[in-house]
Amino acid sequence: MPVKNIAVTPSAYTYPLLIKSLLITPLVHSPEREIIQADGSRYNYRTLNERISRLAGGLASLGIEAGSTVAVMDWDTHRYLECYFAVPMMGAILQTVNIRLSPEQILYTLNHAKADVLMIGADFLPVLEAIADKLETVRSFVLMSDAADPPSAPVKFSAVYEKLLSSAPTNFDFPDFDENTQATVFYTTGTTGNPKGVYFSHRQLVLHTLATAAAMGSAACQGRLHREDVYMPLTPMFHVHAWGFPYVATMLGLKQVYPGQYLPDRLLKLIAREDVTFSHCVPTILHMLLHHPLVDQTDLSRWKVVIGGAAMPKAMAIAAQKRGIDIFTGYGMSETCPILTLAHLPTARTEAPPEEQAALRTKTGLPLPLVDLRVVDEAMQSLPFDGKSTGEVVVRSPWLTQGYLSDPESSEKLWNGSYLHTGDIGHIDPFGYLQITDRMKDVIKSGGEWTSSLQLEDILLQHPAVMEVAVIAQRDEKWGERPLALVRLKPEMADSTSESKLRKHVAEQVEKLGLSRYAILINIIFVEGLTKTSVGKLNKRAMREEFAATKIAPEEEIS
Ligand code: AMP
Repeated sequence: MPVKNIAVTPSAYTYPLLIKSLLITPLVHSPEREIIQADGSRYNYRTLNERISRLAGGLASLGIEAGSTVAVMDWDTHRYLECYFAVPMMGAILQTVNIRLSPEQILYTLNHAKADVLMIGADFLPVLEAIADKLETVRSFVLMSDAADPPSAPVKFSAVYEKLLSSAPTNFDFPDFDENTQATVFYTTGTTGNPKGVYFSHRQLVLHTLATAAAMGSAACQGRLHREDVYMPLTPMFHVHAWGFPYVATMLGLKQVYPGQYLPDRLLKLIAREDVTFSHCVPTILHMLLHHPLVDQTDLSRWKVVIGGAAMPKAMAIAAQKRGIDIFTGYGMSETCPILTLAHLPTARTEAPPEEQAALRTKTGLPLPLVDLRVVDEAMQSLPFDGKSTGEVVVRSPWLTQGYLSDPESSEKLWNGSYLHTGDIGHIDPFGYLQITDRMKDVIKSGGEWTSSLQLEDILLQHPAVMEVAVIAQRDEKWGERPLALVRLKPEMADSTSESKLRKHVAEQVEKLGLSRYAILINIIFVEGLTKTSVGKLNKRAMREEFAATKIAPEEEIS
C-alpha cells in the first residue's frame, strides 16, 4: 500500500522549521535577560531582537536578498550573534570565516563560497589588505565596529556596523520560506589540500538546536543545561556555529556572555564577573586556562564545560574536577553540524572519586535524540555493543551536511553507503556509550596490531611531568610502524624526567590495561611545543611529515 500523506487544510499553517522560530520563546520567557560583551556593555533580548531586524534592514539596503552570501570575520561578539540570526532569517547564507586560516586560504573560501558582502572586525584589516585585490565576488564591505566613519583603506567600505543599524527600522518583515533553504556555510579545518565547504539548512539547524537542548536538559543532574545558566562560548563562532550552542542558549533565553578574543585572563575574569556556568571548548583552551596564574583566584565550581573537538585526556578530567568544574565530553565534526554525542553521567556515578568519574566523563558519549550512530566493519555490518568490537563510526541524523560544496567526488565518499563516514574508529559499550579510539588516519600499526595513539597520549598525560603530548606513527622497517611520542614537559620537572622513565611508565600502564604489547615500542622525543591546527587541535599530519626522517631509538626486542 502506498504511504498516505497527512491532509493539509488550505488555511492551516504548516510551520516550516526556520531559524527565526528560535527567537519566539526567549522574547516571552526572558525578554529582560542580558547579552553581555567583554567590555561589560549589555542589552536584553528585546534589544537583540530589534538589532536583528535593523541588521537585516541594513543588509537589505546594501542589496542583500534571499540567496546572497554574507561572510563574517570577527572574534566572538554580540554582533556575530546578531549575524547568526539576521542573515539566514532573510533567506541569505551566513558564511563564518575561519580567521585563523592563512590569508590565501581565507581568500580561497570567500571566492569558493561566492561571498557577496564581507563583514569584518578591525583586527582583521591586515588580512583584507593582503587579499582585497583577489576577491572575485565580494561587492560590499562592512566594518564590524561602532566607529564614526568607515576607514578609507584597504577597500572602500559601504558602512560601519553600528551606523548601518542605527539608520535601519526595527520591524524587518522576515518572510517564511522552505525549511530546506541553506542557512550557513563554512569550511573544514582539514589539514590536506584546500578547505572543504560544508553547509546546513534552517531545518537542520533547528533540529540540531532542539536535540541538543533535549539531551542537555534531560541529563539527570550532572551537566544539565537549564534556564538559569549563564552561557559563554569558548569554541570560536566561526567553527561549526560554535557547536550550535549560541542557537541553543538563545532559544532557551539564557544570559549570554561574548568574550571577544580568547585572552586567558579576560576569560577567567568574565567567568567570575558574570558568574558563567556553561561553556564548551577543545582541550587546548581549557589547558590554557587551567595553567594560567589567575586560575587559583577564580571560583570555577559552578562551571559546566563540554570538551570536544579532540579526545579529553583523563588527566585533564581529574584536574578540572578537582577545581570543581563539571567537565564532560561532546563529540562531532564539521560535517555533522556538529554534535552527535554527549557523555552525561548517571547520578549514581557522581559521588565516585574524580579518578573513577574521569573514566565516564572522558567517554565519547551517548548519541543525541534522532542520531543513528553505528560502529561498522569494512563490509558496513554493525558491530556488537560490547565495548571492544572496534570499527569505523558511521552516522545518520537530520542535521548532517548533505555534501561538500561544489565537490561531488568527496561528497560521494563522505556518504558512501548512505551513511556519513566520520573517519573515526571506536567501539560502543553495552550502555550505549561510544568511545572513539582514534582517527583512521592516526592509528598506528606495529607488528600487525593496531595501537591507539589517543590511548598512548592519555597514558603519557597521566605522568606528572608531562604537560602536552602527541603520539604519531613513524615508519619502521621491522615493525611496519612505531609510535613516536612528542612530549612537552612541565618546565619545573624537565630536569628530573628522562625518556627511559616515561617509557617505563608507558610499559607499566600498557601491562595494567592489557593493551597491545607493541605499544612499548614507543619512542619519545622532548619538544618545546606541538604543531596545532587553526582551531587548536594537534596537527598530526604536519608532525608526521616533520618527524618522518628523525632517527628512532635502537629497537626493543619483543618476545
Ligand atoms: P572538526 O571537523 O575539525 O571539528 O574535527 C572533527 C574530528 O575531531 C572528529 O572526526 C574526531 O576525529 C575529532 N573529535 C571531535 N570530538 C572528539 C572527541 N570527543 N573525542 C575524540 N575525537 C574527537
